[in-house]
Amino acid sequence: MDFIPSADELKRITAPTSPITPCSCGLGLCTGWESLSEDRWPKASVTPLGTLRDPDLYEPTFEEHHPEGTRYASAAAPVAIKFFPYNRAEVWHCTQCQRHLMRYTEFGGYYVDHRVRELAPQLTITD
Ligand SMILES: [Zn+2]
Repeated sequence: MDFIPSADELKRITAPTSPITPCSCGLGLCTGWESLSEDRWPKASVTPLGTLRDPDLYEPTFEEHHPEGTRYASAAAPVAIKFFPYNRAEVWHCTQCQRHLMRYTEFGGYYVDHRVRELAPQLTITD
């Protein structure tokens, strides 16, 4: 998957479309980072646009970036692409609802947890 190196590049490739809401593909709203099992991920209707994970970094930071006091799962949290968890997320486009989505996977000792967040047009995107 192609690396998306900057906020500007992410904005360019996810230029606002006209989302059809609610989504008909079964993803739900995903305004914050929602846990979404693999079987709910609409494989047939999503295409990858790239990854925010820098291939030159061995371990991206776990630090989060919330200058406005938001939290990890806040619907208004900025998309700070150099910070957790954006720095390990992939960017996808859903051809059913025309939304852009970010997705990453948390690996625990005995579990794998897929997390999805909509890249809503009104969100702040920063490096
Ligand atoms: Zn969709």
